[in-house]
Amino acid sequence: MGEAAAGQGVLRIELDAIVANWRDLGARHGAPCAGVVKADGYGLGAVPVARALLAAGCRTFFVAHLTEGFVLRAGLGAGPEIIVLNGFPPGADEQAGLMPVLNSLGDVAAHAAAGRAEGRPRPALLHLDTGMSRLGLDAAEQAALAADRSRLTGLDLRFVMTHLACADEPAHPLNAAQAARFAEAAARIAPGVPRSFANSSGLFLGPAYRSDLARPGCALYGINPTPGVANPMRQVVTLEVPVLQIREIAAGTTVGYGAGYTAHGRLRVATVAAGYADGYLRSLSGRSLALFQGRAVPLIGRISMDLTTFDATEFPEMRPGDRLMLVGGPGNTPDDIAARCGTIGYEVLTALGPRYLRAHV
Ligand code: PLP
Repeated sequence: MGEAAAGQGVLRIELDAIVANWRDLGARHGAPCAGVVKADGYGLGAVPVARALLAAGCRTFFVAHLTEGFVLRAGLGAGPEIIVLNGFPPGADEQAGLMPVLNSLGDVAAHAAAGRAEGRPRPALLHLDTGMSRLGLDAAEQAALAADRSRLTGLDLRFVMTHLACADEPAHPLNAAQAARFAEAAARIAPGVPRSFANSSGLFLGPAYRSDLARPGCALYGINPTPGVANPMRQVVTLEVPVLQIREIAAGTTVGYGAGYTAHGRLRVATVAAGYADGYLRSLSGRSLALFQGRAVPLIGRISMDLTTFDATEFPEMRPGDRLMLVGGPGNTPDDIAARCGTIGYEVLTALGPRYLRAHV
């Protein structure tokens, strides 16, 4: 772990907790789980996260972009499967041994033609859209492929996959509809090919959502896969940021941009070195808190680009250089923070900016 520079926040990432979450999810699934490490491991560092999972036995990793695949291959070396969800044209992986997800009939045609030309089937995943309407072969493309499976010649299909739209709402009827569509389409188009189905939340939906390879992401990082129910995952991150200054202001004095907060009485204002440019979302202004020695310190005023202000009146012992826990601790998990500003824990994590020291412990 490196040294934090003066004034720098420290994002502590517990790799053991990520590994424990991966093992827990695998046990629930009763079949292998990949590690989804796109968006730089949901903001926590794809390479260190994947290395820890690899050491624990994870053999397959998903990223979204080709460039993320290059970074991960360089970090992991040869061996583990690295799958690029957004796909890439044949040859674009420049011998890095990445595997594309084929998201359209055009993707199928291009990679199959390349495999035939080389006389060596190309490893790939086939993505069937069963309800996301985002990427993956749509219903018409699926029908065309089922009618002429010779289009798959030249491909070594490792998995056929789909992605759930509403897995975090267990009672949503689309879940069962997607399971039925996937079972039917996979049997018609790619009989005998292993299947990849559930994301984190899907792992909690029951046996109908089991497959040969689940693709959990958020739950690895401690996000609750089933909102509204107690979170079974271990927490992974804490973010501590230093107090730069503390000042006393008189009643009637305002704090921050837009004079968005007015002191009602004498107030101690603690200013910390983190703002919306660091992913401390501006929409948290006036509605969040940090922890100091386990106690809540209310956020006051508007969050600035690099600075945020807290009401430290109840903390006469707080000094510049002390650290406030901006993320993590009881009542202050990424999910808690997300709930305060109408977003999801995924966004809180992936927004965490590059200016923090990332300490993988
Ligand atoms: N599979 C696909 C295709 C995805 O896009 C994602 C993430 O959005 C995942 C798996 C992982 O999902 P989650 O983070 O909800 O577990």
